[in-house]
Amino acid sequence: PKIVIAIDGHSSCGKSTVAKELAKALGYIYLDSGAMYRAVTLFALKNGLAANGQVNEPELIARLPEITIEFRLNPASRQNETYLNGENVEEEIRRLPVSTHVSPVATIREVREATVKQQQAMGKNKGIVMDGRDIGTAVFPEAELKIFMTASPEVRAQRRYDELIGKGQQVSFEEILHNVEERDRIDSGREVSPLRKADDALILDNSYLNRDEQLDWALQKARE
Ligand code: C5P
Repeated sequence: PKIVIAIDGHSSCGKSTVAKELAKALGYIYLDSGAMYRAVTLFALKNGLAANGQVNEPELIARLPEITIEFRLNPASRQNETYLNGENVEEEIRRLPVSTHVSPVATIREVREATVKQQQAMGKNKGIVMDGRDIGTAVFPEAELKIFMTASPEVRAQRRYDELIGKGQQVSFEEILHNVEERDRIDSGREVSPLRKADDALILDNSYLNRDEQLDWALQKARE
């Protein structure tokens, strides 16, 4: 029988890599819940509702009905890509301006209510792997398998740095490390669904595990 797999954890600890590979191996759908918060953040940046680390909360809340987020399969890569109001924003939502404004946007209760509702609708038929911060605690508290991933901030920042440099983006290691630590702080300290390990989640500390070891570990848990 198909199950729901919730993968939560800190920023940039490799959740999406494990989640994607796990979904592929099991023939499940993969859903990146962080992409939805990133898409809302991109809308705010494009509409002058976020800048210099500040977010215009009341105005963004008022304009939430204008935001439509979809995931469409790219047949070439066989991966879902994020669309904001019909436009493919998969690349743009991974850039640093979005990363530096997404945590404050994700603290807004009305934003979370809208995204969580959509996430729950997508998981209705099971056979899904979803990653994020609150999947095991708030979105799918009944998930059959919950994994909480973590790694040191330096290891995480180094990975994100390598990834962005590989894509040709101009970033410094220090600003990435600062962003990773800042997001941990806001995500863990917020009032609505703060990042925390669900009581029944299994911990996967991947500082010293390679991709295959992580996938094997998760697959074994999914099949138990
Ligand atoms: O997973 P990712 O790092 O792309 O998520 C970006 C941000 O979105 C996180 O730092 C967090 O503030 C927010 N987020 C969240 N709840 C989720 C997924 C992401 O608050 N389920």
